[in-house]
Amino acid sequence: MLAYSCGALLLSLVLVLVYVFATGTGPSSADNELLEPAAPTPTLSPPAASSTTEQSPSSSESPSSSPSDTVTPTEGDPPPQKIFKLADHPILQDPDAGLANRACHLPGWRSTPEGAEAFFTAARECLDAAWEPFLRAYNLPFTPPRLHFPTSASFQTQCGTINVGIATAAYYCEGDLYLPFDGLQTEQYGNAPGVYLALFAHEYGHHVQELAGIMDAAWERIYAEGQDSPAGQEMSRRKELQAQCFSGMFLGAHVDQGGSITREMYNAAWYDQETRGDDTSGTRDHGSNANYAKWWRAGAYDNRIVDCNTFAAPASEVS
Ligand SMILES: [Zn+2]
Repeated sequence: MLAYSCGALLLSLVLVLVYVFATGTGPSSADNELLEPAAPTPTLSPPAASSTTEQSPSSSESPSSSPSDTVTPTEGDPPPQKIFKLADHPILQDPDAGLANRACHLPGWRSTPEGAEAFFTAARECLDAAWEPFLRAYNLPFTPPRLHFPTSASFQTQCGTINVGIATAAYYCEGDLYLPFDGLQTEQYGNAPGVYLALFAHEYGHHVQELAGIMDAAWERIYAEGQDSPAGQEMSRRKELQAQCFSGMFLGAHVDQGGSITREMYNAAWYDQETRGDDTSGTRDHGSNANYAKWWRAGAYDNRIVDCNTFAAPASEVS
């Protein structure tokens, strides 16, 4: 969607300038998701299990830097605030840190706008429950994302006008998460709640980046390098592939936990990742299909956030 890209770029630059002048810090971000379905061609088998019950953050024996559901800042602690770092961000360092295993209860999938809204609204509660304690353990701020379910072919956001189409399945902009029903392409995917959940968890992954300060740090670099420059696009891919990994972590932590996220859903999401990415979209800002799948699986397989440090990965792994 070249027309959109140019318009969005100009508007983004304006917004960035406004933001920079208003706050003196880097820009926050917009994100649009590519959805380029193709026939899945499974080449890898999902692991038999990705359960991490013994090593979930709440039961970790790691020192206080490890996330814990029970960590509550005391009165003397500074207020939660973002940390504008990338590879050396504190949440990406602890080899034992992952999301707690828990059951997530979702309504059955229905391929209607109302069904999708009910599904994602419930899924947001699961994602909140997963990520809030994780972020708070690092004294990072937490607020749930605001969900929007546009029904028109284009919709307005803080980051500009978004046109629903083959290049935009879902969209995240500074705390607002947009899930246009048409972007799901349910006529093609049908009853595939695992696929839709992985897409949503990816967008939520951007919200995690936003809350942590990673998003601002990444966009500061992207704008410094130039959004369309090779270095800017590589930084965009690192941001996108980390969101993939965070999505995988969520499904890996919740599959087979007695809730609604079944092994069948997990497997469907596992294979679907191969159908998305720059190879099918013709862009350079999300990562090759192979890497798009690889990073999702890295998160899903072990549910360890240290495996999601795309900012420390060699360039070849974020191509
Ligand atoms: Zn994304």
